[in-house]
Amino acid sequence: MKVFYSPHQSVAGNDSFSPSAGKPERLLAQWLERYPIQVVDPQPVSEADFCLAHDPGFVNGVLAARLSNGFGNKNPEVAASLPWTTGSLVSAARYALEHGGAACSPTSGFHHARYASSHGFCTFNGLMVAAILLKPRRVAILDCDYHYGDGTDDIIQKLKVDTVSHYTTGARDCPDPDKFLEELPAILERMGGEILIYQAGADAHLWDPLGGWMTSVQMRRRDRLVFEYCKARALPVVWNLAGGYQEDFQAVLDLHHATMEECLAVFGDPSKEG
Ligand SMILES: [Zn+2]
Repeated sequence: MKVFYSPHQSVAGNDSFSPSAGKPERLLAQWLERYPIQVVDPQPVSEADFCLAHDPGFVNGVLAARLSNGFGNKNPEVAASLPWTTGSLVSAARYALEHGGAACSPTSGFHHARYASSHGFCTFNGLMVAAILLKPRRVAILDCDYHYGDGTDDIIQKLKVDTVSHYTTGARDCPDPDKFLEELPAILERMGGEILIYQAGADAHLWDPLGGWMTSVQMRRRDRLVFEYCKARALPVVWNLAGGYQEDFQAVLDLHHATMEECLAVFGDPSKEG
């Protein structure tokens, strides 16, 4: 399994409730001990790439640490990490499109970022930067973070992006997780697309202080259904981490481990990868 990660993505000691900025580094250390992954250096995106999905003045202000990032601070280390975070998703998506199968981008903090503003631990919307860079390929974004992907919708509407289908899940529309899981293959079918970007959000867990509607078993089933669907249809898939805020940080990492285990189980022996 290819994991597109650079240490530039991680920010130590960011002053925020969200542990997202430091999560990739801790997760990678555990993945390297447990799973047969191959870490691949991503290419950072440029300021011009961000401007494909965002207001140029907003992009410039954030990157120069003049405007607040999605954590509500102007930490220059966060600003410096942003091209790498979105770059990880873009690089993983390009790899999956070219080679088929699955790729992982251990990233978070995208879907609340709107065209001209940051929100809720999300600075820039890497999902939409990736989708627009992949044009004219049609991209499906399945957002299984617990929270509504409002920033993604904002950019799709503002820029009239017609190559993206977006589904953002949650207890709002379907309070019964088992029913949602039953419907999930049909949801994926309706979305179509030539590649799936799957936000495997860990804040969907029942014990998450900011969300919660699924048990660990249901979340594992969610992951398995998505990967099995993609495998059966030869639909390339790139997945990322999105939210996860349990005080017991290892519990969050364990949910991401489960996603990785389901991905490896479906996509098979990584040593046979090209
Ligand atoms: Zn969330």
